[in-house]
Amino acid sequence: MFGLSKLFSSKSVQKQPIITALAAYRSAAFAVGIDESFIDSISQNDDKSIRIKLILPFAAQSEMPLVEQHVSESIKTPVTIDSSVIINEPAKFKAIKHIVLVASGKGGVGKSTTAVNLAGALKNEGAKVGILDADIYGPSIPMLLGLVGAEPQTKDNKLLQPFNANGIKAQSIGFLVPSDDATVWRGPMASGALNQLLNETDWGELDYLIVDMPPGTGDIQLTMSQKVPASGTVIVTTPQDLALADAQKGIAMFNKVNVPVLGLIENMSHYICTHCGEANHVFGKDGAEKLAHKHGVPVLSHIPLAIDIREYSEQGKLIASDTSAAISDTYSAAARLIASTLFYQQHQSSVEIVITED
Ligand code: ADP
Repeated sequence: MFGLSKLFSSKSVQKQPIITALAAYRSAAFAVGIDESFIDSISQNDDKSIRIKLILPFAAQSEMPLVEQHVSESIKTPVTIDSSVIINEPAKFKAIKHIVLVASGKGGVGKSTTAVNLAGALKNEGAKVGILDADIYGPSIPMLLGLVGAEPQTKDNKLLQPFNANGIKAQSIGFLVPSDDATVWRGPMASGALNQLLNETDWGELDYLIVDMPPGTGDIQLTMSQKVPASGTVIVTTPQDLALADAQKGIAMFNKVNVPVLGLIENMSHYICTHCGEANHVFGKDGAEKLAHKHGVPVLSHIPLAIDIREYSEQGKLIASDTSAAISDTYSAAARLIASTLFYQQHQSSVEIVITED
């Protein structure tokens, strides 16, 4: 038998306005609102404030304070949200739900920096994350994660153990082959090494494995992208014409091998003046937008040229994981958008993707 107070309190929670407010929430990652199916429970605290438990099907936990604020204002009652991330999708490779390739048409655009910070940001959003450095021309993930000189270990002489860098599982082709051997790589060799690292690393359960690909769109990159069961790719470019022309070749290459292009990331997009705070578009403006428009893909993020990004990298620290650094919000927003795009890519029959000008 129900106690009287339980009956009274469950009756007094008006769930419909809360469900409606959640559904009306809008952001880049929650472009179609927060679906009723994400709600685990709604209850009322003794002080009449509302507690909502959400189970998010993609990594987007850091957005919950904004959702709390939106729902509180809609129902005019204080709201707290507890959230967890459970990606309820079949693993596409071993126990890995999504493999995301981070690629670029040319070198030096900040692909590795972006890849590793996206991994850090996805982890902050509540996901289990790994990073695989497949950049045979200059494996830089060990440096970016402060793992230079580390020796990979094996378990029972079989599986390679990934390194644990701030909760991110990391593996690099650089641990296996000296980088000056890159000139001798051919497509099948490179894709063989990538497959070996994928197969013979003890990744365990991962929601997202980020793969830092070698720059370029030649035979090596083509063969490598063909062999990985990727859910999608993110192409990093800078705003210069040459980089954009190469990014276009990247889009064409991934279209050819049927790897969905989740979007472009414009890195070193602008420089924020440390004196006046104004954004200067040193290398030009709107180039990535035009390219994205032409190919029907979104621009996922504009990452500024920032001294902090380079300094953290040189110290083997992830700026995306340092929530006190302003730029970490930019990486987080990009990570949430990638996670949401991967989710809606599979559950989207009724969702219309709108590419806006802004
Ligand atoms: P890629 O992987 O495309 O070759 P890297 O990630 O190694 O490029 O970056 C090249 C250099 O640019 C590094 O010194 C890195 O610290 C710096 N860098 C990358 N992105 C930014 C940024 N947004 N702001 C400032 N420096 C950056």
